[in-house]
Amino acid sequence: MNNLTDMNVLRDILQRHGFNFSKGLGQNFLINPSVCPRIAEMGNAKKGYGIIEIGTGIGTLTAELAKRADKVVAIEIDNRLLPILDETLQDFDNIKIINKDILEVDIVKLIDEEFDGKRVAVCANLPYYITSPVIMHLLESRADIDSITVMIQKEAAQRLCAEVGTRQSGAITVGVNYYGYAKILFNVSRGSFIPVPNVDSSVIKIDIDKDKRYGKIDEEFFFKVVKAGFSQRRKTLANSLSAMLGISKEIIYEILSDIGLNQAVRVESLTMDELVLFSEKLKNSLN
Ligand code: SAM
Repeated sequence: MNNLTDMNVLRDILQRHGFNFSKGLGQNFLINPSVCPRIAEMGNAKKGYGIIEIGTGIGTLTAELAKRADKVVAIEIDNRLLPILDETLQDFDNIKIINKDILEVDIVKLIDEEFDGKRVAVCANLPYYITSPVIMHLLESRADIDSITVMIQKEAAQRLCAEVGTRQSGAITVGVNYYGYAKILFNVSRGSFIPVPNVDSSVIKIDIDKDKRYGKIDEEFFFKVVKAGFSQRRKTLANSLSAMLGISKEIIYEILSDIGLNQAVRVESLTMDELVLFSEKLKNSLN
């Protein structure tokens, strides 16, 4: 098998197939040989596991995953890459490529149909233009996944892995903390890709909370509150929720004081436990 991170090999493949990078699809392919093996090893690509990959490019990470795991199902939106993958991944018989937009894939159904009861993990060098939607699509599916190990833009990684209740946190931080535990594994410089992007990257891992520690609350209402709060994060929580959800400030003040918080508090300073408690009390007071 050819070394897909070798610039000469890569250029030759792309040239022979007349392939031009699509900026719109976030196509920056890895050429740093150490990154894909590390993602695979830290991302649960091993015996007994089925791996879902998002965005194959020319198959550089796909091959490293397939060397280690029982099976890889890779979702790639760009059909121009299919003849390339036929060539680059020809040595493997445990890879299935699905030519689809990941946001349109039913993850629970895919796991059911493809992995025969195996444990499942997600690994990817994500297209950065849809980082948050893809991560939330995976988490909200509540599919039986052990972990999500993905390369994303460094700043996005810092936000995603921030502590809830600090200034770096956002709605996505709360989302990730609700479903699992996120941490940054390592950083990857922009020079590790072709074409070179304008940003550096980090690989993060989200271990899914299978015990669903917050899972008994009204999820839909909780995320409505979180989104409304963070959509106007510079305002006080009372102001943003009354403006966005039409809830009276008096009710909000009462609940805030009930849980020992100041009336002028902003959403970004509430911890995960405080957000959950606030949302549950608010919901009950509206019934
Ligand atoms: N895994 C390869 C690598 O590391 O070299 C390519 C990573 S590149 C950053 C992102 C890949 O995601 C591209 O191949 C792109 O075509 C694909 N992609 C973009 N949007 C997608 C979508 N909505 N669904 C599935 N794949 C997508």
